[in-house]
Amino acid sequence: MRDTLVLNASFEPLSTVTLNRAVVLVLTDKAVVEQAHPELKMRAAAVELPVPRVIRLCRYVRVPFRRHAPWSRRGVLIRDRNKCAYCGRRATTVDHVVPRAQGGGDTWLNTVASCAADNHRKADRTPEQAGMPLLFEPFVPTPSDAMLFALAADDRSALPEWLTQSVAA
Ligand SMILES: [Zn+2]
Repeated sequence: MRDTLVLNASFEPLSTVTLNRAVVLVLTDKAVVEQAHPELKMRAAAVELPVPRVIRLCRYVRVPFRRHAPWSRRGVLIRDRNKCAYCGRRATTVDHVVPRAQGGGDTWLNTVASCAADNHRKADRTPEQAGMPLLFEPFVPTPSDAMLFALAADDRSALPEWLTQSVAA
């Protein structure tokens, strides 16, 4: 998959996204194509589109002046795309990798999305103790990740406050 560069409305580079994500942003009028691959065309939703190499957001996005987005449960679910870190099925809860009972905190690196069944099964144990290895490693989202999560979400009212803060009204 080719990556597409995302520019802010002010032309300042923000991040890269997959081609699919870039096309969705363009088709939903959240971004315009600034530069396309000269030879390539693609069909998406019955329209012909140049294959974007660089897109620019239509609205200026204020990137918060801080290194990382603050932790939140909803943020963890969005970061992990509602996918359980233990079985890959739909997650509705947030699990502490190192349980709070063992001193694990509410941090991006210590929390993953989890289905209710696995969260219950793991209980107050680490993945090693429970014999439940993580399918993916948790990571700290950057403010531009937060912006992209916000743009990707269909229901903006479902967004956590730290995401809506990073997107200009
Ligand atoms: Zn699960």
